[in-house]
Amino acid sequence: MIPFYIHAIYIIAASMFIVGIKWMNSPVTARKGNQLSAMAAILAVAVTFLNPSLLHPALKVDSPLVDAWLHNDTLRWATVFSGIFVGSLIGFVMARTVKMTDMPQAVAIFNGLGGGAAALVSVATFLGMAQHIVLQGAEESALSIVLGTLIGSVTFTGSMIAFGKLQGWISGRPIRFPRVLLMLLGAGAMLLAGYVVVASYRHGGLVLFDRTLFLGAFACALLFGIGLVLPIGGADMPVVISLLNSFTGTAAAFTGFVLGNNVLIIGGALVGASGFILTGLMCKAMNRNLVNVLFGAFGGDGSGASVAGDGGTELETSVDDAAIMLSYAQSVIIVPGYGLAVAQAQHGVQKLAEILEKKGVSVKYAIHPVAGRMPGHMNVLLAEANVPYSLLFDMEDINPEFEKADVALIIGANDVTNPSARTDTNSPIFGMPILDCDKAKNVIVMKRGRGKGFAGIENPLYFLPGTRMLFGDAKKTITALVTAVEEA
Ligand code: NDP
Repeated sequence: MIPFYIHAIYIIAASMFIVGIKWMNSPVTARKGNQLSAMAAILAVAVTFLNPSLLHPALKVDSPLVDAWLHNDTLRWATVFSGIFVGSLIGFVMARTVKMTDMPQAVAIFNGLGGGAAALVSVATFLGMAQHIVLQGAEESALSIVLGTLIGSVTFTGSMIAFGKLQGWISGRPIRFPRVLLMLLGAGAMLLAGYVVVASYRHGGLVLFDRTLFLGAFACALLFGIGLVLPIGGADMPVVISLLNSFTGTAAAFTGFVLGNNVLIIGGALVGASGFILTGLMCKAMNRNLVNVLFGAFGGDGSGASVAGDGGTELETSVDDAAIMLSYAQSVIIVPGYGLAVAQAQHGVQKLAEILEKKGVSVKYAIHPVAGRMPGHMNVLLAEANVPYSLLFDMEDINPEFEKADVALIIGANDVTNPSARTDTNSPIFGMPILDCDKAKNVIVMKRGRGKGFAGIENPLYFLPGTRMLFGDAKKTITALVTAVEEA
């Protein structure tokens, strides 16, 4: 039995999580929200150490070795704290060193490990319980154990494949995995797991012979996660990661039921629900539906590339000409994209905007919901460079303003400005809402060369008469532009 005061502290931690998430809604309070949630997690973990069943484990297990370990306080705590130390160290170093553009991979790894941990706790609990031929009264745990195991296992292997794809260790192209095999694995996992649950209810407890079936369900779920993510193209991977994130939360919530731990149930449910909402928002921003993402390959290899604009001529400009155009404009809309993040040009952009504003130019930033490689990518980058939040505008709000803008300054953004998404039914991004940069009086596009964007397709915007290409690394070009605008 977990004592009442531990439950009370868990409720406090859960409330802190909820307030923290609320604060994360706005960039102004997001940092505070993150800190509050981190404190809640520390509180929840710390108070768990006061749990008597952890301090004095009563469990008897059949293995003499495990039994000895369980009842040797020094050894047990040494193992627990070594795990915490090593895990925290790896997490700390990763979080400090991961590049902004590699964030999706980092999230994939964290998700995967969370799901894997939830699955392992459920598996260990089942195997521990099934030591007894029939564990009377344990049938209620069966459903939670089974669901925690299945969802956690799919999350673990799915996330590892997603990580491999984003890291370039596995091809980003959709890799064929026989649909029939995938369906068989899914059906196998559910049937075996379902049998274990039904049998536990029939016998009024968990039964030993279910152990093989249970492990069979576990194996099927692990393979199902691989088969589910392998055929999905690289461009959809962030959506998949967000979905797997919500699976992690769900698996953790079931583990909470298994362990009778309220904070795990609430925390898991929060992650599950928010991950699911985020997945929906990302799908909407890319005009995709989830079934389409999971079972219809998109992007990654550019095979469905639109050819609109091919054969046209791109007009180049120089830093000095661009500086004059910007200095004499009345209104400029800056459109940041993935290339800005790669080049880490956010501080330069902020400086450029500041100088332009001093010259009386109105400057606004247009933020596309999927610009970059993860939701909120541009907001975080620009906030890091102290760009006032009041200057950032969402797509729906800024789109009507492009017609009046003198210059749309595109920095390392490509797909999110591609007008073929509006008109070309053959384009793989057809239907994706885009920023209406092509409607501005002049467009300056900053990119290194003729590289494609994430969807791997040509952008007809570059061939319009009002568009000028300013080639070069965004950071270097912006630095030169800042000097040129100051002198103009
Ligand atoms: P894109 O990937 O479409 O384009 C980025 C452009 O930046 C490239 O064309 C590249 O051209 C240029 N670039 C790269 N490095 C530099 C550099 N150092 N300096 C200057 N330019 C550089 O980015 P967008 O932000 O426009 O679009 C995001 C894409 O990611 C969309 O397809 C979106 O659907 C997808 N996506 C985003 C998600 C999200 O949550 N944000 C989730 C899922 C997918 P060049 O090589 O010539 O320099």
